[in-house]
Amino acid sequence: MALNLDHASQPARPQAQRRTSLVGLSKHELRTALASELGLDEREAKMRGSQLWNWIYHHGVTDFDRMSNIQKGVRQKLADTFLLDRPEIVSEQISVDGTRKWLFRYRDPKNPLLPPVEIETVYIPESDRGTLCVSSQVGCTLTCSFCHTGTQTLVRNLTAGEILGQVLMARERLGDFPGGVRPDDGGLVPAPRGSGGSEGDNRAITNVVMMGMGEPLYNYDNVKNALLIASAEDGISLSKRRITLSTSGVVPYIEPTGREIGVMLAISLHAVRDDLRDMLVPINKKYPLKDLMAAIRAYPGLSNARRVTFEYVMLRDINDSDADARELVRLLSGIPAKINLIPFNPWPGTNYDCSSSARIEKFADIVNRAGYASPVRTPRGRDIFAACGQLKSETERLKKKDREALTSA
Ligand code: SAH
Ligand code: SF4
Repeated sequence: MALNLDHASQPARPQAQRRTSLVGLSKHELRTALASELGLDEREAKMRGSQLWNWIYHHGVTDFDRMSNIQKGVRQKLADTFLLDRPEIVSEQISVDGTRKWLFRYRDPKNPLLPPVEIETVYIPESDRGTLCVSSQVGCTLTCSFCHTGTQTLVRNLTAGEILGQVLMARERLGDFPGGVRPDDGGLVPAPRGSGGSEGDNRAITNVVMMGMGEPLYNYDNVKNALLIASAEDGISLSKRRITLSTSGVVPYIEPTGREIGVMLAISLHAVRDDLRDMLVPINKKYPLKDLMAAIRAYPGLSNARRVTFEYVMLRDINDSDADARELVRLLSGIPAKINLIPFNPWPGTNYDCSSSARIEKFADIVNRAGYASPVRTPRGRDIFAACGQLKSETERLKKKDREALTSA
């Protein structure tokens, strides 16, 4: 089912784009913006900052006029100076299994004359949870050979506000803000877990995974700022245990991720020998398995209660033998880990096939017997190209000459 929404075709508003967007600013940055652009003193900047934070992230408000505890005159000044922008929804598709995929469009925050960029975000409802799969980049610099996103050259990094914008927009569409209404269109949301729980128990979005388009650790600062806001208690307030960042193995940023962001870590492993991993996940040539495993072992906060997830895509006759499974167990020995076996999701033009169910079961069995949980990830949303590794948008990187022509205008 696809829904095309008209406002996607609205023209750019160069005037509006020059206002500073408040979405994605840390509390400190928010206060600084209020002090420098509205001339508020420290006390007032702090108070207004807290009010704004609550309206933006807790109530999901996009219109300063709805901020009822702020006087009208101040609301007007805020509206003249700042934006509370969200991405435009270009389309929304709902899979037969209830998975929902949005194509979001963003104008360039600095230069509205540049063509807008588009990314995909996926919502995966299950009986006891709802997971939002968020993108960090438009395209990807890496070229993992089994990944559709890897065929889209990096156009640009998303800002912290654009990363959070996916969460805010999804919460809006799923009726997840106070007073919101759940959609009634065939897409599912998890059942409430009964009364007596915290507010979080009734949310449509209970988990966030940085597993959409792009390599989050090649956009570290923006991802960090976005996730710190998503997990701040008085904001979107998602527990850090319910946020997972997946990386193909950008070793220098693994330790800072644990120390500075503190979210759960997932590693796209996919091969247990350097020669094969060099082919499947080419960043392995820069950061080979030995360095990657050392960084994982040192991940701050790693424990039996906070395990690292290893993602392993099942590719027929490539990485799915019994010997591979045994080597996987050896490689992970001593690491508190769970292993997510992902049946390969095909896309147009790929040369890979998915391993047979019997092969996946045998592989899982070897890993299980060694004491590791190894759930096989049920492919979700394949019919709308929303499954792992299927995301891609049409946005192309501009040639340098064209970009310069537009930015110098
Ligand atoms: N760039 C990050 C996060 C995004 S990819 C990373 O690579 O970890 C999310 C997961 O989907 C990764 O584990 C990725 O390797 C996997 N994936 C990519 N293409 C796939 C495909 N065609 N089928 C199944 N999984 C795929
Ligand atoms: Fe980029 Fe991750 Fe796809 Fe590799 S698997 S190309 S790192 S998005």
